[in-house]
Amino acid sequence: MKKQMDPCMHSTEHILNQAMGRLFDCDRCFSAHIERKKSKCDYRFGRSLTVEELAALEKEVNGVIEADLPVAESFLAIDDAREVFNLGRLPDDAGERIRIVSIGDYDHCPCIGPHVASTGEIGSFRITSASHEDGVLRIRFKLKRP
Ligand SMILES: [Zn+2]
Repeated sequence: MKKQMDPCMHSTEHILNQAMGRLFDCDRCFSAHIERKKSKCDYRFGRSLTVEELAALEKEVNGVIEADLPVAESFLAIDDAREVFNLGRLPDDAGERIRIVSIGDYDHCPCIGPHVASTGEIGSFRITSASHEDGVLRIRFKLKRP
């Protein structure tokens, strides 16, 4: 497995994915590059986002952070998990029990990565830029740590 991801950045990825779904009916990112200083997520999406839409997205993510939602884990049998979640990004050796990471009631997602204990630890979220090419919307972002 690759080196441990930054928990703040990675937890933000969960929130951003849910926000993209809620605001723009977009699937979770198919690729992500998560680093402590700056990160990016790639979405299959048909167009770019306007400045206003990016501002709304930023506001949505920051609202979840400011709500200081608890992050919890639970476990589901893989067959049950398959009925609820898209397990396409799951590694083949994931095992029979799938770890589900919940951010309050806002987001639930199968994941093996490291997360914060509550979203208030994340700080504030800022989209640094977004671009669209060949059906892929790329969102780059940073965090201002609390
Ligand atoms: Zn995760």
